[in-house]
Amino acid sequence: MRVVVVGGGIAGLAAAHELADLPDVITTVVEGADRLGGKVHTAPFADADLDTGPDAFLARRPEAVQLCRELGILDRLEAPATGKAWLWVRGRLRPVPEATLLGVPTDVGAVARTGVLSPAGLARLAAAPLVTRRQRPLGPGEDRTIGQVVRRSLGDEVHERLVDPLVGGINAGNTDALSIDAVAPQLAAAARRSADLAAGAREVQAAAPAAPPGAPAPVFFGLPGGMARLVDALEARLVRAGVEVRTGSQVASLGRDGATWLARTAAGDDVRADAVVLAAPAPVSARLVRPFDEAVAATLGNIAHASVTLVALAWPREAVPRLPPGSGFLVPRGEGRLMTACSWSSSKWAHLAAPSGRVLLRVSAGRADDHRAGAMDDDELETRLRLELRDAMGIVATPSAVRITRWPDAFPQYAPGHLGRIAAAEATLSARHPGLVLAGAALRGVGIPACIGSGRAAARAVVAGVAA
Ligand SMILES: Cc1cc2nc3c(=O)[nH]c(=O)nc-3n(C[C@H](O)[C@H](O)[C@H](O)COP(=O)(O)OP(=O)(O)OC[C@H]3O[C@@H](n4cnc5c(N)ncnc54)[C@H](O)[C@@H]3O)c2cc1C
Repeated sequence: MRVVVVGGGIAGLAAAHELADLPDVITTVVEGADRLGGKVHTAPFADADLDTGPDAFLARRPEAVQLCRELGILDRLEAPATGKAWLWVRGRLRPVPEATLLGVPTDVGAVARTGVLSPAGLARLAAAPLVTRRQRPLGPGEDRTIGQVVRRSLGDEVHERLVDPLVGGINAGNTDALSIDAVAPQLAAAARRSADLAAGAREVQAAAPAAPPGAPAPVFFGLPGGMARLVDALEARLVRAGVEVRTGSQVASLGRDGATWLARTAAGDDVRADAVVLAAPAPVSARLVRPFDEAVAATLGNIAHASVTLVALAWPREAVPRLPPGSGFLVPRGEGRLMTACSWSSSKWAHLAAPSGRVLLRVSAGRADDHRAGAMDDDELETRLRLELRDAMGIVATPSAVRITRWPDAFPQYAPGHLGRIAAAEATLSARHPGLVLAGAALRGVGIPACIGSGRAAARAVVAGVAA
């Protein structure tokens, strides 16, 4: 059986990894860019290898950790040097409260001590048991935006200053438009337990399996040398296993020759296969699927995408007056700032700390409903962000290095009902176009673990579908 994987991002590579050792399966990965990895990319910056995209993955989901185990790089994973994070809110940096579930406070006192909420916002949070006593919990199968659920239960400030920066930040999204089921299933579980979301969050946390004794397990992992080392390890493993990996080869269209799929490249070559894993971004997959199925193409094509810009900056230590302990800060949208987050990369990762103490920052700008950064040229963007860094951290000196990476249409935005639409699209493909399977960030999670899981699931689905 021949399988072609369209797109060599982390999802496509994970699909190829799943297929690589199967007897009688010949796999070809066709990647449009001249390198593998898609959004997972690392490049030299200042004296370090610094990620231009993701710099960590969630350790509490199994998929990425398991893949690293299989690739023999588990022992290279590194937990962040600090778990402390900050919010730039009400004029200064204030600690992210420790007792939260995705920003939903589980301890009113702990939130009060951080100063993140105003007295009115705190009072509204404290009144939640009373306010929600006549509300009903989220129903089974009922999907809402995260904003609808959080605002109604705990008030606007909890939503705007805690939940939206934390959850919206991960997705470069606006949680007033994002599906609670698809983007924050833990909050959906809390909302189904109780209309008082804080009480529901406490129940969800209490129901979670007890942590094993000893030091707490890390929430995230990074990789010394950057996340691209994961891509390198995957590529080496695929090549060793005999998988053909073509870079610089865009798939321009899909066709059929009887039961055989033809992936036609922009150069005019046909890659013939019995099955296709479509692991390109959703707009590309929509275009490739459209000649076969308009409804599936519409489902994929209607997923909105947010653009982000990531700006790396370096300074000598003495040029950075305020660098509190921690991994960085998030900026709630209500603050009106251009930056959405600032990672103190050289504090966050031991492998990025330098004996000289030089400081590396990664500043993010742009989200679903904020296109200002994308519209600015590099000079204006840098100037504006440096003014904001002056306000937040007191930095006035010229950086010793700056790198701007633009990621247009990088983050799929899951609107309410997303999971149902994806399941319907998959069912349609499986029934009407056997051998054509979807993978990637547009399906069930934008994070690296979810993308790995989706790639591997797609690979299993093509094998099961074609064998059936
Ligand atoms: C700035 C940034 C920071 C992030 N931070 C984190 C983080 O810290 N932790 C985390 O878990 N996640 C993070 N993410 C999200 C995560 O990196 C992505 O969601 C994930 O890598 C997407 O993987 P993918 O394989 O689905 O898609 P992609 O990486 O987009 O891969 C798709 C591939 O398809 C290729 N392609 C496109 N068209 C064609 C074609 N016609 N023919 C052939 N190939 C084609 C592309 O070149 C690309 O290589 C971040 C993303 C960004 C942009």
